[in-house]
Amino acid sequence: MKVYEKTGVLSLSDLRLPSKKQLEKGVAILECVQEIPCNPCVDTCPVNAISMKDINAVPVNDYDKCTGCGKCVGVCPGLAIFVVKIKDGKALITLPYEFLPVPVVGENVHVLDRTGKKRGFGLVKRVVKNGKTMVVTVEVDEKLGMDVRNIRVER
Ligand code: SF4
Ligand code: SF4
Repeated sequence: MKVYEKTGVLSLSDLRLPSKKQLEKGVAILECVQEIPCNPCVDTCPVNAISMKDINAVPVNDYDKCTGCGKCVGVCPGLAIFVVKIKDGKALITLPYEFLPVPVVGENVHVLDRTGKKRGFGLVKRVVKNGKTMVVTVEVDEKLGMDVRNIRVER
């Protein structure tokens, strides 16, 4: 049994992880593990990096093809795609965000892990609107790169 089936929260052992070199380039990590009929990520990727065996299969990202552009992040209805780029001791995490208030560039926000626990603060570097989903890039310490998956804006 997978860890998330017991806890309801994904852990790193449930995921196919990129290499250090791929993380330095910046790649999309698809935290989508349930077999559901869905594929906007496949259709959106401009370099055809994401593939699925069939519409009910889980998507697989070819990390060597992925450019880390982030176009897939805002189209995923499951809010399950995160781009992680590790550089100069920092991790840039691009994540989907659908709450208010909307963060602004330069703001320090709480960063949360997959359980919703606060793990410190991150600096907002980019905010882009994609329909009702904001795609936010936040900078955190490198060691939090594979843990932070949400933000909270408290003013
Ligand atoms: S980040 Fe860009 S290149 Fe990578 S899988 Fe998503 S859409 Fe494709
Ligand atoms: S769009 Fe999101 S939920 Fe749908 S298959 Fe892709 S990663 Fe999974």
